[in-house]
Amino acid sequence: MMVYILWRTLQVMPRVTAAKTITASANVSWDDVAGLDEAKDELHEVIDFLRDPERFGRLGARVPKGILLYGPPGTGKTLLAKAIASEAGAKFFAQSASAFVEMFAGLGAARIRKLFEEARKNAPAIVFIDELDAVGAQRTGHGFSREQDQTLNQLLVELDGFEAREQVIVMGASNRLQDLDIALLRPGRFDRQVLVAAPDLAGREAILGVHTRGKPLAEEIDLRSIARQTAGLTGAELENIANEAAIFAGRKGQKVLHQHDFEEAMERVVAGLQQRKVMTEKERRIVAYHEAGHAVMSHLTGDLLPVHKVTIVSRGSALGYTLNLPSEERYLHTTEEFEDLLKVFLAGRAAEQVVFGRITNGAANDLEKATELARAMVFDYGMSNAAVSRTMRADNYALSEETKAIRDHEQARLTDEAFAEALRLLVKHRPSLDRIALALLDKETLDKDELAELLEGTEAESRSSETVGTVRVVAAD
Ligand code: ATP
Repeated sequence: MMVYILWRTLQVMPRVTAAKTITASANVSWDDVAGLDEAKDELHEVIDFLRDPERFGRLGARVPKGILLYGPPGTGKTLLAKAIASEAGAKFFAQSASAFVEMFAGLGAARIRKLFEEARKNAPAIVFIDELDAVGAQRTGHGFSREQDQTLNQLLVELDGFEAREQVIVMGASNRLQDLDIALLRPGRFDRQVLVAAPDLAGREAILGVHTRGKPLAEEIDLRSIARQTAGLTGAELENIANEAAIFAGRKGQKVLHQHDFEEAMERVVAGLQQRKVMTEKERRIVAYHEAGHAVMSHLTGDLLPVHKVTIVSRGSALGYTLNLPSEERYLHTTEEFEDLLKVFLAGRAAEQVVFGRITNGAANDLEKATELARAMVFDYGMSNAAVSRTMRADNYALSEETKAIRDHEQARLTDEAFAEALRLLVKHRPSLDRIALALLDKETLDKDELAELLEGTEAESRSSETVGTVRVVAAD
């Protein structure tokens, strides 16, 4: 019995250890973080705030206290947080959230309390919580333990308890933003979310620059060409390549690193990542034309959905993406505008067809978006040739089999016509499509100014502005 009690006592009262602290002297400077210009721009104010909170306080500004860095593993989230602490002269308290999730009831919550207590005592400070999903995954009911729940609640309590002028910033890191509990992302908590993406060509060259700094390099070394051959790799993997290259050179008794050392290192690192997506040259061409298709079509359809950025650097399950941002917030759209939007969604697949004469499985997400929009147009908005004065959802009222067939036909017609029109426009504007695709193959990412330059002289062909205000009715059932 005694033994049992003693055992229990030891079990329920484990020591609450303090978080691992790395002080401001941690040797990471702002310049050590390469190729993350957008993220760095967004985060610079955090440094200013930690250095001089009064500057913001005087203006009544509320600087975000919780910042979530999200992106694939090894892209530099921890590095970025350390660099901010270092630049701001703040203490850095780091803890992985998986360390909070213990089998002992309440221990995770106690650890969180302790972590924040220490940070407050040592302000200015940054609390960095890695692998946030370990405590912050959505509470689905299955597999979410009471312990995780308590730990998450404690984290929310700490985040809510911040005073506006307290010089403590909490930075969380996660690979999967979409899986995080919505409660964590509310205003006042992790309400600033910053993407730390896999680097593009220029980014990879800059990262290689950082990690070859101080290494003796032979004259012929061409970092740009190494960057070109490492599409899809993250900062951590590039650091690994630079390190392996130095090891190869050392083994061979060389005094400097040669290009062939990097080639060997690349082979080794890429071979170790075999399950990972490293695109072949042919796939890169297909993705470049696919994304160029979206970009050209966005331009041709006018200002409806301007392209902010287009890239063939993969992110999540997407091999490339075109980021469109509406030029103004709109709540109302005409039929013609939606038809233009369908063309933009389907232009990736259309470009593949035009250029390669065949299509790939890479358009699944686009097809889904097009299908959903066409469905909403016919079923909900009365924007089809079948019915303009009512919805066509079967749950509203009984539809005859014949009406359902007409409705489904209309939905298919909208996407088919948009696809045919996208094909026609891309054939007509093939030189623009080629220009964008080649630029993507060369630079991997194009911003809106670069796109505008490449598309100069290509006139928009949108019908949406011509027909606004008219309703085209062909047949009502
Ligand atoms: P995880 O999600 O797995 O925690 P992470 O995004 O936090 O990964 P880091 O731990 O910051 O990635 O990166 C690991 C190492 O890779 C860094 O210490 C650094 O040497 C190198 N690295 C990653 N990204 C960059 C970058 N953008 N610039 C320079 N070095 C980088």
